[in-house]
Amino acid sequence: MEIRKLSVEVMTETGFLEVIKDVDLTIDEGEIYSLVGESGCGKTVTALSVLRLLGPSFRVKNGSVLFRGRDLLAIPEKEMEKIRGREISMVFQEPMTSLNPVLKIGEQTKEMFVVHLGLKKKEAKERAIELLKEVGFENPEKRYHQYPHQLSGGQRQRVLIAISISLNPKLIICDEPTTSLDVASEWEILNLLLSLVRERKMSMLFITHDLHIVENLSHKIGIMYLGRIVEEQKKDNFFKKPYHPYSQGLLRSAFMRGEKLIPIKGSVPDLKNVPKGCKFHPRCDYVMDLCMREEPKPIRIDDGTWVRCFLYGN
Ligand code: SF4
Repeated sequence: MEIRKLSVEVMTETGFLEVIKDVDLTIDEGEIYSLVGESGCGKTVTALSVLRLLGPSFRVKNGSVLFRGRDLLAIPEKEMEKIRGREISMVFQEPMTSLNPVLKIGEQTKEMFVVHLGLKKKEAKERAIELLKEVGFENPEKRYHQYPHQLSGGQRQRVLIAISISLNPKLIICDEPTTSLDVASEWEILNLLLSLVRERKMSMLFITHDLHIVENLSHKIGIMYLGRIVEEQKKDNFFKKPYHPYSQGLLRSAFMRGEKLIPIKGSVPDLKNVPKGCKFHPRCDYVMDLCMREEPKPIRIDDGTWVRCFLYGN
């Protein structure tokens, strides 16, 4: 999938505000791309734009989302409906609100097989039980007849993952899928996702604010700040040498071991008060006059690494 120059606006009382701007992002086959940033930076808007699931107050200003030869932002809605779930699926943050509380797990798991593949009830049930087994339930027949409230948070997230892979999508988008879970369940879910991506040869867009998670998960990392991807690198290189001052600050504050935590100074500005020039300049230790006037364009450092910062490329 290739997202090119994607900009999205949201309607507010005072007019449209840009929530993401010129987002470029490519995910190759079998690749895990982690999109990292603080909450409100535009990660979820990027993901929802791909599936055209943005609410009515949003509008795509420009850009394209190329997926297997088609621009998902330009095709008719009927065609898009066939892509959601079948070719690209999504796992959301809060499993309890994504599952229907009054329907048994089995009913919800087999629905995709009935609706999209037209399977008869018996065969759909067999496939659903296989799927529940694949996502790690030891007694899938028992789970099949339970309601969501009878499962733990981690188990509910397993069910959602089962549903999301049921039609064998090529790309799975996971939006902070472990945020509401305890640490033990979090690592179980991450390991499950990792093994499913490998076994089923899927690609994954993984959205998170947590650099500890992506260290063990990703091939490529994109760092997002105020609606822009400010740096993209292969995972191993990123952890050795982050280029953007924001990435350096994130890494420093996430991985200070046994030393005093050094947070990034200041806070993320409100969308209504986005600074001119480089959006990170009020918080940057290396700010120059130019940074306050102009917004940096992406500078390629090497194959697989680019950064939006005036410290590089001149
Ligand atoms: Fe800092 Fe300037 Fe680079 Fe922005 S462009 S991150 S303000 S040095």
